[in-house]
Amino acid sequence: MFDRASVVTPGGVNSPVRAFRAVGGTPRFMVSGTGPYLTDADGREYVDLVCSWGPMILGHSRPEVIAAVQEAVSRGTSFGTPGEGEVALAEEIVARIEPVEQVRLVSSGTEATMSAIRLARGFTGRSKVVKFAGCYHGHVDALLAAAGSGLATFGLPDTPGVTGATARDTVVLPYNDLEAVRAAFAAHPGEIACVITEASPGNMGVVPPADGFNAGLKELCVANGALYISDEVMTGFRTSKAGWYGVDGVSPDLMTFGKVMGGGFPAAAFGGRADVMAHLAPAGPVYQAGTLSGNPVATAAGLAQLRLLDDAAYAKIDAVSAELRSLVGDAFTKEGVAHTVSSASNMFSVFFTDEPVRNYDDAKKQEAFRFTAFFHSMLEQGVYLPPSAFESWFVSTAHDERAVERIAAALPAAARAASEATA
Ligand code: PLP
Repeated sequence: MFDRASVVTPGGVNSPVRAFRAVGGTPRFMVSGTGPYLTDADGREYVDLVCSWGPMILGHSRPEVIAAVQEAVSRGTSFGTPGEGEVALAEEIVARIEPVEQVRLVSSGTEATMSAIRLARGFTGRSKVVKFAGCYHGHVDALLAAAGSGLATFGLPDTPGVTGATARDTVVLPYNDLEAVRAAFAAHPGEIACVITEASPGNMGVVPPADGFNAGLKELCVANGALYISDEVMTGFRTSKAGWYGVDGVSPDLMTFGKVMGGGFPAAAFGGRADVMAHLAPAGPVYQAGTLSGNPVATAAGLAQLRLLDDAAYAKIDAVSAELRSLVGDAFTKEGVAHTVSSASNMFSVFFTDEPVRNYDDAKKQEAFRFTAFFHSMLEQGVYLPPSAFESWFVSTAHDERAVERIAAALPAAARAASEATA
């Protein structure tokens, strides 16, 4: 299948992070998923710790979500008119996240961040955007500079195709460094439209904000007339019922969402202060649109998933994550592998270093070659990890005792492989 794919698709994949280029080998083609398990085209079963890169927070093929999708599909797949499903999904988001007074639905996280920075520029009449090295906000031209995710995985500093003019309006700063933000505002007075940050980064591995960092960003934005945009595409509806906002309580001006809110379908959103959102067409002059925005099948899936995500569901995910973090840490300790299990709520990843990791430069100092050996051993033993040392691992409510036992059984040999690996 990969040979077939490689003929008709660049690199054989439709999103670079799915390729095994950083770890070597052939990507697995999955044909079905049930609960915490995926089955590949050769009939092998894996415990899934990718969960579609975040969306599958209830596991695969959760019956209530599938039923909602089937019911929606039976009424048609797209109308190009307003519909009740999109209103209900927007109401659910607004009800969960206090700073979001109004929301606009889109089809991908990339669209959400792209539209949010356009709106911030339109609202403030300013051009420059501040972002942090190692934060990934989708493949938006202005936000690709020093981005994490696939660019970290493949060691790409930037990408051809982004013009100098676009890049010039992006100010890239080290993460967790408020002094650098203060200095950027001083160097570009009246020019910075917004600061965009992952609410808690998961695209350079998991690197949570230091105490007071997000609050400090908000303060600096207020003091300098810029908007504070919190990208919750990954953390939204995952790290708590109200995402990372539910963890640190810092109120952004605008927020972006995706992944979990789509229930496995292409649905995403941006939203925030009503006075800012009022600048969006057709209410205001900042244009933004989408043929499939608020698609009835996607909104039905997202709404069904969010309605199942109650306090008990988050308690379950947090507990599974804590158990796995401790099993993973113990396995590496036993083999004498220098490591840090880094977590933010239930998101976590492993850095192959025992030095503190506070930003992208720290993350890059890890012995990533150990991850390659670890990854392949886990894969051989039926555990599917993200094929990169710079990505978060994701668990779901469906990760039960049997799934955890299978991971636990695979860890000793994989930790040994990591310890024996050479650069
Ligand atoms: N923002 C963050 C924090 C993300 O993690 C991602 C994707 O991983 C995006 C934006 C882009 O979302 P999408 O892949 O849906 O375009």
